[in-house]
Amino acid sequence: MNKTDLDYLKIKLKKIYGYEKFRPGQEDIIETILEKKNVLAVMPTGAGKSLCYQLPAIVSDFSSIVVSPLLALMDDQVDGLEALGLSVSSIHSGKDRETNIVEWKKFASGHTKIMYLSPERLMQERMIKALKKLNVGLFVIDEAHCISKWGPDFRPQYSELSQLKKHFPNANIAAFTATADKATREDIVTQLSDKDFKTIVKGFDRPNLSLSVIEKIDIKSSLATILQSKKGQSGIIYCLSRNEVDKTTLFLKDKGFNAIAYHAGKSTQDRKQAQNRFMTETATVMVATIAFGMGVDKPDIRFVFHASLPGSIEAFYQEIGRAGRDGEPSETVMFYGLQDLIKRQRMIFEGEEKADFKFLEYKRLETLIGYCETASCRRKALLSHFDEDIDECGNCDNCVEKPLVVDYTSEAKLVIQTIKLTGQFFGATHIVDVLRGSETAKIKDRGHDKLETFCSMPHFPKTFISSLIRLLVAFGALKIDFAKYGALAISDIANKIYEGNTPFEAKKIVVGQEKVKSKALTVREEVKIENQDLLQILKNLRLDLATEKKVPAYVIFPDKTLHQMANTKPTTREDFLNISGVGEKKLEEYFKLFSKTITDFLATE
Ligand code: ADP
Repeated sequence: MNKTDLDYLKIKLKKIYGYEKFRPGQEDIIETILEKKNVLAVMPTGAGKSLCYQLPAIVSDFSSIVVSPLLALMDDQVDGLEALGLSVSSIHSGKDRETNIVEWKKFASGHTKIMYLSPERLMQERMIKALKKLNVGLFVIDEAHCISKWGPDFRPQYSELSQLKKHFPNANIAAFTATADKATREDIVTQLSDKDFKTIVKGFDRPNLSLSVIEKIDIKSSLATILQSKKGQSGIIYCLSRNEVDKTTLFLKDKGFNAIAYHAGKSTQDRKQAQNRFMTETATVMVATIAFGMGVDKPDIRFVFHASLPGSIEAFYQEIGRAGRDGEPSETVMFYGLQDLIKRQRMIFEGEEKADFKFLEYKRLETLIGYCETASCRRKALLSHFDEDIDECGNCDNCVEKPLVVDYTSEAKLVIQTIKLTGQFFGATHIVDVLRGSETAKIKDRGHDKLETFCSMPHFPKTFISSLIRLLVAFGALKIDFAKYGALAISDIANKIYEGNTPFEAKKIVVGQEKVKSKALTVREEVKIENQDLLQILKNLRLDLATEKKVPAYVIFPDKTLHQMANTKPTTREDFLNISGVGEKKLEEYFKLFSKTITDFLATE
């Protein structure tokens, strides 16, 4: 791209979006698209992928189809573009036939240059035939990892997209994803086109997200405790099952939080309503299974908590990636305990997949456990998985407070010995009971009160021994034997520890409520205290406008823009245009209202 083209794009960036400069990667991607080459962009959530295809679509002479997996995502994108004064089309099953026809006509006549479609709509024979008659130059595949079985979120409807190259050999592809390791990237590229792709991978690091792992003991009360510090903020709590979602939501509502439940067991209408509430109301806690989230385009999600272990490290990274898209500090916490680990292993063991797939799944789980158990920088551990090497981050629990590493060899030996003595037939609860000297019926019936290790750890809390067992499982010393209903079994590593050939050192086990306090850095306050009143007034104005227009509040202005307004108090049109996120359309639409509000506020000070 020559300098004049770039200058032209920068002018458009400022005029339409109100942004001063491109973010890393954006220029490169836009240039590749405008040069009519295929591009695969792997960039973290919040990096600004949408703008990379919107801007070329606006300035070029061809039409673009954007394939998106979710209706809600399409609607949000369309709302956002319309708020910027741009006209786009979208056709999906959430609209009636007449509306869809009008949308099609707008696109077919060239009135709109971008059309959003679901993969199944796009690949309908009729649609393909109709599109062949138009000048479609670009197919944008959002959430492109869905096409690959290697990715964390394979969707069969996406497979059909591999036919696009046959139907539209002259059109180009721009594929976007926030999560794709090397194998997934290669798969996406071969499926989508026979031509070359330029792959652009931009740093996965999201330094504004703090990372912590907290041991899971009493999850509900832990959540209630941690949410006390999140008053006024919106976030997501991920649970493993529908039942867990419903119970947690009820509990949190009872505690006075604005909690909403979301899972695939709810009707489409309930889900839509839940998502709308999350997008438009403030301070909402979305309690959900992984059914929620893909394409959720809310930039000010301030926290993402995992009440249970996520599916894989890729899934985890994608899920926490939904927090802090606006670049502001946001918190992520994963709660993790022995039972979760067992549950995950059981799901793989009992799954219907072939042995080699299961093996891969166990390996993936191991990586995730490695992240949970590490005593060093978590971000380093996480990013190394995506082949990115960083210095210690300073914004994870392990960096903020270096954990002590303790020698637990003697305690581990007692656990291993007890498992051996009881014939590797029992689960963790029974082993803990034997070690603590509990006189349960099960222990008496089996004569386990006569064992050498019976009551050899009487003063250790149950949670301590259970954590120790979890560490031994994570370390590979103990295995869960599902053929024996989840009994603990010992491996060669355990034998080595027992025989005194391998020491067993691990992060210090902490017992009690002190663990619930997240140790990661607290959220930085972006707006100075003396400007908080004005910020609240601006937020109220934004909410009124959003309600009137029936759009999410951030479509009017994102938080970041309001923060800048509260700090700099612009009252002239010029000052207003200098605020990030104010382009020409929004200046025209909101200058009067917002500047009057600021002037009135200044007069009363
Ligand atoms: P992604 O699709 O990569 O998750 P989005 O496209 O939703 O990210 O962008 C995240 C936020 O960043 C949006 O509010 C968007 O308007 C904003 N953004 C995009 N590009 C820029 C830029 N060059 N300067 C400032 N903000 C930007």
